[in-house]
Amino acid sequence: MPVPMPAREAPVIDLHTHSSCSDGTQSPADLVHAAGQAGVQVLGLTDHDVIAGWAAADAAGAATRVTVVPGVELSTQVVGISVHTLAYLIDPLDTAMVDLMAAIRGHRESRLRRMVQVLAVDGYPVDYEAIVAHSGPGVTLGRPHVADALVRAGSFPDRDAVFATVLHGSSPYYVHHWAPQTLDAVQLIRAAGGVPIMAHPFARARGRTITQHQIEVLVDAGLAGLEVHHPDHDAQDTRRAAELCRRLGVIGTGSSDYHGAGKPNRLAEQTTDLQAFQRLCELGSGTPLLGAPLAQAQAS
Ligand code: AMP
Ligand code: ZN
Ligand code: FE
Ligand code: FE
Repeated sequence: MPVPMPAREAPVIDLHTHSSCSDGTQSPADLVHAAGQAGVQVLGLTDHDVIAGWAAADAAGAATRVTVVPGVELSTQVVGISVHTLAYLIDPLDTAMVDLMAAIRGHRESRLRRMVQVLAVDGYPVDYEAIVAHSGPGVTLGRPHVADALVRAGSFPDRDAVFATVLHGSSPYYVHHWAPQTLDAVQLIRAAGGVPIMAHPFARARGRTITQHQIEVLVDAGLAGLEVHHPDHDAQDTRRAAELCRRLGVIGTGSSDYHGAGKPNRLAEQTTDLQAFQRLCELGSGTPLLGAPLAQAQAS
């Protein structure tokens, strides 16, 4: 696809955010508007396992001079270790990708149903159908939606308090869900013309993380880069990720992982430099950038 020309002034690029199509709290249009207000010129929309927000983000981006990078954050795993794989610029009609996202969402649904059932048996005021009704159709449901239901019911003060207790990975209420092997996902993303970038690779607070050797194997299979700058990376994690990108010659990105009011992360809290974004655009061929053309976004 055409590569954006270098900017007179470098644009603000935030490549990883969530809308209410997954566990963000703003609609795709509101998210794009908020990004424009926050000075973001290039926004990656990367809902969990769903691309339903692309069309609305495209329209909002065109109206507000924000360039939208269509993406998705896939739940994947390497030998049982959860790995979030960002997929940018995939062909939205690629059958294998469409099927993969549907499969992950299906497993997420049955897993969430079980978590809610067990919580309800133990007296927590949650009901799966009520959560679905509250979230709307086609939304990728996750633990944040259960957390919000418990907050609405007055059982907990906020999402964090629920994640720290009953929804924590070590809680007896926690249920795993199936996820594809990261290696398979990386190959499918590439085959769909997309660019696979590993999200927050060294964010240890989320649980076990994979080794540098495992990342090298994934790079050999087509992984195009790592998210270097992320709110869940401390200085050491960031340094490790940056050094690994340099050594392996892959793209290093930076992003906020903004979830609206669902998390404290602020838009553009971490950003991607233009050169890394240009490399990403050079690699992606599955679909064009959405929203405003980059030059227009830069002129705003
Ligand atoms: P799940 O994918 O259903 O297991 O839920 C995990 C998702 O919940 C992560 O990808 C985050 O987006 C979100 N999350 C994790 N911890 C928190 C937290 N403390 N507060 C709000 N959202 C969180
Ligand atoms: Zn999320
Ligand atoms: Fe993630
Ligand atoms: Fe995310």
